[in-house]
Amino acid sequence: MGTARLRQLPLATSVLDRADYLRGDDGAVGRYWRDDNARVLALCGETAEIDRTVAEVRLVLARPALSDSGELPSNVFFLGLHEGVPYFGLAQEQPTEGDDGGEFRTLREVGSELTALDAELFVTTQSLTNWHRTHPRCSRCGEPTEVVRSGWVRRCPGDSSEHYPRTDPAVIMLITDPLDRALLGRRDVWPSHWFSTLAGFVEPGESAESAVVREVAEEAGVVVDPATVVCLGSQPWPFPSSIMLGFRGGAATGDDPVTDDEEIVEARWFTRDELAEQCRSGAIAVPPHLSISRHLIEDWFGSTLPGSWSRR
Ligand SMILES: [Zn+2]
Repeated sequence: MGTARLRQLPLATSVLDRADYLRGDDGAVGRYWRDDNARVLALCGETAEIDRTVAEVRLVLARPALSDSGELPSNVFFLGLHEGVPYFGLAQEQPTEGDDGGEFRTLREVGSELTALDAELFVTTQSLTNWHRTHPRCSRCGEPTEVVRSGWVRRCPGDSSEHYPRTDPAVIMLITDPLDRALLGRRDVWPSHWFSTLAGFVEPGESAESAVVREVAEEAGVVVDPATVVCLGSQPWPFPSSIMLGFRGGAATGDDPVTDDEEIVEARWFTRDELAEQCRSGAIAVPPHLSISRHLIEDWFGSTLPGSWSRR
């Protein structure tokens, strides 16, 4: 069974020097903010402006708009350094009115087409923005908190507690049976031809490997042998705040799945021939290339598959 790590997973490559040691140094970060080379990714709602006139899709990065003080505004995050360029993320509420007709796209829409650097800028800015928007107050005393450490911490002025951006671990797994068939399922909220690997959140007090076994049992009634569970890679997934931990695992038998009928309403074992034929005919569709699920499925399948999710 192919258990080499997944390669070329979108959103999963780090090229920035995140320079954590600079985040608490307002003087140094302020100098980078005023640097002629500095570049800013402005997130407008959940979209960023892209440029398709170059060979690959690129994000449109702006020069910082300096305030009178020249200090870093509280809605700007210091993302890091790359090849002498300081990079920042900026959270804006609404798309800027496009007088130049710029093209604005979400991370879901363009994430798999971006360079590693652009993808890291987008996914990091999106993650931080989602957290700041939903965590404006202290979880201990309810006071509004203030942004410190260049956007990476919020501090409570009332009790001095510090609050860090959260990322919630979720497991996503391609399970095979003794015939090397793959288990795919469909959630109740999806169109009837969408199928994917099973997934679920890691619970407090649980290892990721145990979460794989538990979720597959809950959602499909399939018993996974814990000794076969192997992590093949991980991917930040800021919709709104997850990190997806991708696994392979084996079930001892290929008995028919029994779904929970809550989250998962249909689950089936697929041979490679069945999956290829049904993807080709459009009878089923597997997730888009951005998602680690697609990569787990194609890693098992052995090559690329036709088609992808789209509403129809
Ligand atoms: Zn507080």
